Amino acid sequence: MKLSKLLAPTLKEDPADAEVISHKLMVRAGMIRKLTAGIYSYLPLGYRSLRKVEQIVREEMNAAGAQEVFMPVVQPSELWKESGRWEIYGKELLRFKDRHDRECCLGPTHEEVITDLVRREVRSYRDLPLNLYQIQTKFRDEIRPRFGLMRGREFMMKDGYSFDATEEGAEESYRQMRDAYEKTFRRCGLKFRAVEADSGPIGGSFSHEFMVLAATGEDTIVSCDSCDYAANLEKAEIRCLPASLPALSGTPEKVKTPGVTTVDDVAKFLGVNPRAIIKTLILRTENGPIAVLLRGDHELNEVKIKNFLNVSELEMANANLIQEVTGGPLGFSGPIGLRNVVVLADNAIVEIESAVIGANEADTHLVNVDPRNHFQVNNFGDFRAATEGDMCPHCSGTLRLSRGIEVGHIFKLGDKYSKAMNASFLDPEGKETLMIMGCYGIGVSRVLAAAIEQNHDDDGIIFPPPLAPFTAIVTPVGAKSDTINEAAQKVYENLWSSGIDALWDDRDERPGVKFKDADLFGIPFRITVGQKALAQGKVELRNRKTKETNLVSPDELVSVVKTQIDSWLAEF
Ligand code: ATP
Ligand code: MG
Repeated sequence: MKLSKLLAPTLKEDPADAEVISHKLMVRAGMIRKLTAGIYSYLPLGYRSLRKVEQIVREEMNAAGAQEVFMPVVQPSELWKESGRWEIYGKELLRFKDRHDRECCLGPTHEEVITDLVRREVRSYRDLPLNLYQIQTKFRDEIRPRFGLMRGREFMMKDGYSFDATEEGAEESYRQMRDAYEKTFRRCGLKFRAVEADSGPIGGSFSHEFMVLAATGEDTIVSCDSCDYAANLEKAEIRCLPASLPALSGTPEKVKTPGVTTVDDVAKFLGVNPRAIIKTLILRTENGPIAVLLRGDHELNEVKIKNFLNVSELEMANANLIQEVTGGPLGFSGPIGLRNVVVLADNAIVEIESAVIGANEADTHLVNVDPRNHFQVNNFGDFRAATEGDMCPHCSGTLRLSRGIEVGHIFKLGDKYSKAMNASFLDPEGKETLMIMGCYGIGVSRVLAAAIEQNHDDDGIIFPPPLAPFTAIVTPVGAKSDTINEAAQKVYENLWSSGIDALWDDRDERPGVKFKDADLFGIPFRITVGQKALAQGKVELRNRKTKETNLVSPDELVSVVKTQIDSWLAEF
């Protein structure tokens, strides 16, 4: 491809609406253009990279025995009503009516459609296991589409679904997909980690997210510094040692704390450490109000509470509800004398020797409180978000926090959809049995954005070779000379015929301009063809990542590039 003919409109300035580097660089490199909020067109460079991600995903899915299908984007509401998700899926599900007044939606995911397909076509245990996937546009009407391809409304996903006859079979399918995902992201040349993810109240670790490690990631990863435990913050468990403190002597005493409500202010006002304060959160669930007690410096983990109580709604109570439950105003809640609520306490509070709590009375707190004696708790448990330095649930190691971008998610669904939609088969005894399902997603377009978040510098993108729109760019300098142009063309043709896709910067531009664009595009290898090197029978090879340049003879070029690709990818 000649660069002079390529639609790659580069920009000097960052687009005004771009907050993250991948968004800025993809627009500046002319890879994508926004049509409207969260909806993008891919220009040639962007589309080539997207297709490379797709191809790696496709090859690894096929190698794992999955079969590619292609399902419709428009889905009828009937299927979603059968699964029960028409009512509960939020506004991300874009619903509309066709000309015959039939309700439809744009597919945000395809469990319903695939379950419907498979229940019609599969009758016998002999047809199982079955693993089907597609690579297709998804639509989710995200409330805050942002970060370019990272959180779009329309985006490219690989979604796969497995159907098994038995639990063991389903676990094997899950394991195969997990392995295939590891291979996929490794082949992409990305640093990533598979982490345990929340799988709802059923629990277990039958859900993993694949996180590309990047400081700008929206997700927090909790990992152990000595074993291989790693989990999403939503899911991360914390080990707590049994309480060892003796009972406290004396009784709670009231102190006046006029207008002092937050943990930090109370700590300052009373001259105590926030760790000595127990904060009492009053929350509302669909089954009534609850109180959650946490150490002052800890944060609530909503997912743990939802799973423990098996509720789907959880929000902070308003002042009226707080008054009703505690008898006092917002900001002074405490666990003594609560009415008609389930009280959940995080394990960490029992280790507070002498605690400060709200007195359920305006401008008042209680001190000298013994969390082991002075109030009632329905359940102690692990209800808080893990913090740096907490104890690993599996070993004596310490938990560390880092950031990641969720690029894949695998999930053992069990019979959730097969039961709701009656997807069954005849087992060897001729008995009607429900299929056991799993679902497996990869955010194909998000992988591109994540790759750039992880690999860039001040000059632009540094694409890992497998994802680069072109692996190499041939840059003649002094392009007015025929010898140089002929040499460049030979290099260019030789690269292509050796399986290396190359771009040819045939523009009549200054070398500086050409080098700048090559860097911005993130092309892994730049081959400069110029007078001085040619005089020695050489061309100059520059590695975008190491920034090293080497003079190589055109005959050796392909093998040197291949060796450099291998060493680039060796760490993955
Ligand atoms: P998130 O938590 O980021 O909203 P999700 O958990 O809702 O994602 P899944 O339903 O697990 O997403 O979808 C599978 C994959 O699709 C995700 O792992 C992610 O990589 C990708 N994905 C999800 N939503 C978007 C989006 N709005 N834009 C781009 N990619 C997305
Ligand atoms: Mg997910």
